[in-house]
Amino acid sequence: MNATAKTNLLGLTRAELEAFVENMGEKPFRARQLLKWLYKRHEGDFDRMTDLAKSFRAKLHEVAEVRTPQIKVEQVSADGTRKWMLAMDGTQGIEMVFIPEPGRGTLCISSQVGCPVGCRFCASGLGGLDGNLSTGRIVEQVWRLARLPEVGRITNVVFMGMGEPLANYRNVVRATEILMDDLGFDISRRRVTVSTSGLVPQMLKLAEETNCALAVSLHAPNDALRDKLVPINRKHPIAELLEACWQYVNKQNARSITFEYVMLDGVNDQPSHAHELVELLKGQPAKVNLIPFNPFPQTRYRRSSPAAIERFRDILNANGVIATTRRTRGDDIDAACGQLVGRVNDRTTVRLGSKLISVAVHT
Ligand code: SAH
Ligand code: SF4
Repeated sequence: MNATAKTNLLGLTRAELEAFVENMGEKPFRARQLLKWLYKRHEGDFDRMTDLAKSFRAKLHEVAEVRTPQIKVEQVSADGTRKWMLAMDGTQGIEMVFIPEPGRGTLCISSQVGCPVGCRFCASGLGGLDGNLSTGRIVEQVWRLARLPEVGRITNVVFMGMGEPLANYRNVVRATEILMDDLGFDISRRRVTVSTSGLVPQMLKLAEETNCALAVSLHAPNDALRDKLVPINRKHPIAELLEACWQYVNKQNARSITFEYVMLDGVNDQPSHAHELVELLKGQPAKVNLIPFNPFPQTRYRRSSPAAIERFRDILNANGVIATTRRTRGDDIDAACGQLVGRVNDRTTVRLGSKLISVAVHT
């Protein structure tokens, strides 16, 4: 049997692994053992899975493998944020970012190569969509980085890299299942966050099928402005979007939805916008996360001034809407929100920031 005919176990859910081992004529508990080795202990070598029977390991070698892409480039920001590019098939690459903070480590992963939504302020959406990542390709981002000695414990995983996760619905849901499975990566449901630009039908489905945390990219307090900034708004306007958010909270018994709001100088950062936002969110289970805009070469937008951001945040807080400002991390290596462009066919790879302090190439 040649290598490509073997099943890559990375990306199989608990139920799928159970079916797989059953097909091999093995007992279901073998699947649970495998699940634990694979995802919880990040082990990819069957011979090191010491409590598996030798005969089972031999069979696994024949029919299965743990295949992961190569890490191509690693960059480390002056603030400790790290960015990697994983080689995908052929010419494509995707990017991930790890943000270490006291007591926690957040990994920001990608769900697609490029993005179909095309928000005007986002580098990932500039070139459109080049493809969906399979469940395996999503999960292996976490798996591969968890094995690196320089990466501390990954406590939080956020789908805030390249792509619109809910436009790759099935693969993303399966990935969240593996991330939250207590024999899988075992990350708490409140620490796996799917961020969406507002695909309402998929949000409603998500509420039925999983229980991860949800973040919604709002970015504007009225439809006229949001139509321009986040084109999906023309299909699913704000009222419809918010209705889906509150349904999500109810269904999930979740604490709240996080609303992301990118601060664009002179565009959506005026006190009047803050007051409009208050009207939308007051009294609701909502938190607002203000994201200072991260510029990239082809953009005409500018970041709001610190004073404008502070004023905006204060208006929200003073009117009963909890708001915080996201600290910008890794912007010297283009690892900040919206700067991930990956390598989409011929598009430029990683632009090296002037403050870059280290570049390592893993082979
Ligand atoms: N597609 C999903 C998730 C990926 S983007 C979504 O849009 O929610 C993660 C967050 O970064 C989103 O809130 C997105 O709007 C924001 N973002 C995109 N481009 C940005 C930029 N240039 N500066 C700051 N935030 C940006
Ligand atoms: Fe896609 Fe999100 Fe970027 Fe919009 S902000 S283009 S949805 S990745």
